[in-house]
Amino acid sequence: MSMNQNLCEEYDIVVVGAGHAGCEASLAAARLGLKTIMFTVSVDSIALMPCNPNIGGTSKGHLVREIDALGGEMGKNIDKTFIQSKMLNLSKGPAVHSLRAQADKREYTTEMRKVLENTENLVIRQAEVSELLVEEGKITGVKTFSGAHYKAKAVVLCTGTYLKARCIYGDVSNYTGPNGLQAANYLTDSLKSLGIEMYRFKTGTPARVDKRSIDFSKMEEQKGDEKVIPFSFSTDPATVQKEQVSCWLTYTNNETHEIIKNNIDRSPLYSGMIEGTGPRYCPSIEDKVMKFADKERHQVFIEPEGLYTNEMYLGGMSSSLPEDVQYAMYRTVPGLENVQIVRNAYAIEYDCINPRQLNPTLEFKAISGLFSGGQFNGSSGYEEAAAQGLIAGINAALKVKGEEQIIIDRSQGYIGVLIDDLVTKENHEPYRMMTSRSEYRLILRQDNADLRLSEIGHKVGLVSDETYEKVERKRRLIDEEIERLTAITVGASKEIAEFLEKNNSTSLKTGSNLAELIRRPELSYEIVSELDPDRRELPEDVIEQININIKYDGYIKRQLHQVEQFRKLEEKKLDVDFDYNNVSGLRREAIQKLNMYKPMSIGQASRISGVSPADISVLLVYLKQNK
Ligand SMILES: Cc1cc2nc3c(=O)[nH]c(=O)nc-3n(C[C@H](O)[C@H](O)[C@H](O)COP(=O)(O)OP(=O)(O)OC[C@H]3O[C@@H](n4cnc5c(N)ncnc54)[C@H](O)[C@@H]3O)c2cc1C
Repeated sequence: MSMNQNLCEEYDIVVVGAGHAGCEASLAAARLGLKTIMFTVSVDSIALMPCNPNIGGTSKGHLVREIDALGGEMGKNIDKTFIQSKMLNLSKGPAVHSLRAQADKREYTTEMRKVLENTENLVIRQAEVSELLVEEGKITGVKTFSGAHYKAKAVVLCTGTYLKARCIYGDVSNYTGPNGLQAANYLTDSLKSLGIEMYRFKTGTPARVDKRSIDFSKMEEQKGDEKVIPFSFSTDPATVQKEQVSCWLTYTNNETHEIIKNNIDRSPLYSGMIEGTGPRYCPSIEDKVMKFADKERHQVFIEPEGLYTNEMYLGGMSSSLPEDVQYAMYRTVPGLENVQIVRNAYAIEYDCINPRQLNPTLEFKAISGLFSGGQFNGSSGYEEAAAQGLIAGINAALKVKGEEQIIIDRSQGYIGVLIDDLVTKENHEPYRMMTSRSEYRLILRQDNADLRLSEIGHKVGLVSDETYEKVERKRRLIDEEIERLTAITVGASKEIAEFLEKNNSTSLKTGSNLAELIRRPELSYEIVSELDPDRRELPEDVIEQININIKYDGYIKRQLHQVEQFRKLEEKKLDVDFDYNNVSGLRREAIQKLNMYKPMSIGQASRISGVSPADISVLLVYLKQNK
């Protein structure tokens, strides 16, 4: 629905949304030279962080690094606006090492807005898009609630948690977007009228409380790392060494749990007032207490929202319980006995799509030129949103330019895992990234995202020649150095024996080489350099790669072999317009699923639930016979 007027503007690309997905999509399209307009219901909510005040964490840090390697903005933006930084999981293997940074939320929005407002080819527009314009299965533009018409060759939908949004706590509900912002109430009907299948999802956030009402002496201080490692490969580490603020750790207890259990009938989640499906891996405190009744306590991370405010975020206690219950339950937590709530915890319901309607390029199968990214695609999280927004923006631009679109596959990045899981697997709840979702996590580390993806970023035109050359130089240095170390032989001499003993390492029985020594858990490139006659001064990030590649050589080789098998099936392309009823020998369920998902390759077909390995064999035979 829209008002009647004559304003008509023309753009190459329209992006609906200025959240984490919309920002990346708009920047990618504009930086690739396309005339782009980005819509938002409020320009004051650009890159808004309506929930947790941090970027990164396990697997999410990997996504941010991959966005950066492809030429996206999130990594650079958090390097400019973080107030605490920590490398997580250092006690575990490098596959799960993950950077996480606390952001100053207001600075994060301000800096991202500065970048957007100073990007050529990009216009920012505060207006609610209410209608998609489609002719013969092809997008032609959008209409706003005011009736203005914006022609476009491609449209990218990144509407997040705003479509028909409803905020709920206790028996209070408002049809608003997050933080009381205006919801977007008309686009869902336009999508449904185009035959787009919609879902109703839900997520929640904890209360924000006044720092002055917290007794930190009853909590464990969580400091940032002394030496900060930046997210962006192009950020000079020297520029991010600064004073940091702390987070704090406390726990719920039996009293907290009793209050929740005694009031569970007043929870909109349990009373049925909330219809939307919530994220399994980001549960509310009610869900934690009810579903994990055996757990005596749950962690509560007290995180600053920024340097500009006293507001503190109660991580781990998101809820939609009534206000009085919120006060009662929070005040049972050690350190929060006298807590003053600034903003209530609440849940938000919103409309999004069933992502199986998308190709791995994030273009709609049914509407040419229509792309989408972010929470609108059924994911949850800033990082997941930004990753999809970037890919959707790049592909919308490449489509308009008539160039081949990109697909990041599961062996190239977590972005590939994220998108493939969304468009190939059945998702009936908000999808959150986890390292366990990747079958190649040893090679998809956050430390080598540049080596894995910069070439693609350079090919599409988002990564500069200078940056790309820097990555290739790093790759050469790593390979040459490993070759050099492997060629330096060491014998079972007295000197070597003393060195090994000094480093609690077993003596050598026969000859070996420096690389072999580095493979030993107690040794490293830095330690073994003592034995290296031609020792070279190498950058830290190169040394990090040398240590990992040598120490995990066997595992990496095994995974690279699995990747080869995977790629063989990905390269067996399928016609997306094919009717699988024509393949005899396929089971009924497989025919239904294959015709529903229209996979682009045998590899993708093999990951659709309900398509068995036997069905894949039938398909392979059919392909061979009907070349
Ligand atoms: C209350 C709450 C709790 C959350 N809890 C969690 C959590 O626990 N864990 C987690 O991982 N993530 C959580 N999130 C999700 C996280 O905020 C999102 O994942 C992330 O912001 C999604 O980014 P996005 O770009 O897809 O959408 P958003 O950041 O929501 O941005 C959407 C943008 O689209 C614009 N827009 C929408 N419709 C229209 C229209 N029709 N016309 C014009 N502009 C429009 C809006 O103005 C906005 O700029 C929560 C979000 C909220 C609101």
